[in-house]
Amino acid sequence: MDIQKISDSFIGRINPRLVSWAFKYLKAVPAVRRKLEKEFEGLMKDIERQVKPYSKTFTTYTGIPEKGIERDDILKQMEEFKALEEARWKDGFASGAVYNGDEKHIRFLNQVYALNSQANPLHSDIWPSISKYEGEIVSMTAKMLGAGKAGASGKPEKQICGVVSSGGTESILLAMKTYRDWARDKKGITHPEMIVPVSGHAAFDKASQYFKIKIKHIPVDENYRADVSAARKMINRNTIVIAGSAPSFPHGIVDPIDELSGLARERGIGFHTDACLGGFILPWAERLGYDIPPFDFRLPGVTSISADTHKYGYAAKGTSVILYRGSDLRHYQYFKATDWPGGLYFSATFAGSRPGALSAACWAALLSVGQKGYMEATRKILETGTKIKKAIREISDLFILGDPLWVIAFGSKTLDIYRIMDYMAGRNWSLNGLHKPSCVHLCITLRHTQPGVAERFIDDLRSAVTFVKEHPGEKGGMAPVYGLAATIPVRSIVGDLLERYIDVLYKV
Ligand SMILES: *Cc1c(COP(=O)(O)O)cnc(C)c1O
Repeated sequence: MDIQKISDSFIGRINPRLVSWAFKYLKAVPAVRRKLEKEFEGLMKDIERQVKPYSKTFTTYTGIPEKGIERDDILKQMEEFKALEEARWKDGFASGAVYNGDEKHIRFLNQVYALNSQANPLHSDIWPSISKYEGEIVSMTAKMLGAGKAGASGKPEKQICGVVSSGGTESILLAMKTYRDWARDKKGITHPEMIVPVSGHAAFDKASQYFKIKIKHIPVDENYRADVSAARKMINRNTIVIAGSAPSFPHGIVDPIDELSGLARERGIGFHTDACLGGFILPWAERLGYDIPPFDFRLPGVTSISADTHKYGYAAKGTSVILYRGSDLRHYQYFKATDWPGGLYFSATFAGSRPGALSAACWAALLSVGQKGYMEATRKILETGTKIKKAIREISDLFILGDPLWVIAFGSKTLDIYRIMDYMAGRNWSLNGLHKPSCVHLCITLRHTQPGVAERFIDDLRSAVTFVKEHPGEKGGMAPVYGLAATIPVRSIVGDLLERYIDVLYKV
């Protein structure tokens, strides 16, 4: 497991006690390590209690109950969980996570889900409505991302097309598999390589591992944008695709997509814009007059884009769109089995059966929000971003990484930023801890545009800085893991810990 690219949101929220255990372990001599190993099980038990808070107060079902439980009782229990969990994200304490969260919007999506809960687009003959929804989701997203201006209107095989996937990760995995198979077929490349900014999402590393595509990481410059000349030097005859983010998950910075995609075009290789985060913000920001660097299909070198409907598209969780320049490229994504006794089988994405209701909810979200709604939401989010950036810049102990719009990463040259994060966690904030370099980010959603939320964040952040300054001696909870992660032996130990942690998540 490569610690460098483990999903930031995951590592950012991992248990601080686990982290400090790892820190002690690494520094320890063998005898102490053995002692620590004995402590480890106790530690895991503590973590389990935190990760599974309901195991004592609610019934745990390890097998299917003999006799079915009353539906009302099941619903009642779920209402209790909801009541316990809802306030934190609803009141705007979470970075990212829930991007819309408006009650009426949620109720509407739930109605749509209920109407379509049986639909499976694998059976397109039974539910042609879902194929209508998915075709239109792709078309609406493509149009928003410059398809009409892509200079390909004449030839269908050159037109922007795509499919609906289950999320940003699947969109990226699909695109990388597509480039791999395209390059093998068209160029005979058997040892494929991709070139991705170090700030690119961990999904690219996942694709690298799953599909055996070597990944080369482009360093970023002092503004956290991918270094184009470094990327140029990484290209060789095995390169199948270059990628850039619009914007990146860690720092919210848009890479120089124009230059990177130009480079790819020059060399006849693919270029993927990861607009999972920005796909449903940047087009509207541009219309609002913000200075947005080009990133979409208006750039001739951009051959695919991922855009997450389940983030700022305000759909329910579980949909994303992957777009391609031309159906020729899209065909390399498809799976076909012509000899299977089960019949002629095909699927466009990784899944077989899929939840049609999620595509229905996505379609309904796009229709009901509308261009005006997206524009208004974007305006509010960017204005909140401006307010929060200004306040952070006024705190002399903090600095913002690069010049972001609404995903704001900040660090400190004088204080331990993870202690600031810990203090914020004590005030109910769920922020993302990042490393390389050490910083924390807030991904602004509509939840933070509610009255008073930005002010509360700023107040709490000021208190956090004051507190950490006044208590310099205290040990940081999160702090050690990030420094640790830089050294090789630690990487594998932290990797093992993460495996154990995931095991706990599935424990009953
Ligand atoms: C969220 C995100 C992804 C991955 O999306 P999931 O929906 O979590 O799988 C990829 N790239 C960027 C830039 C993202 O912000």
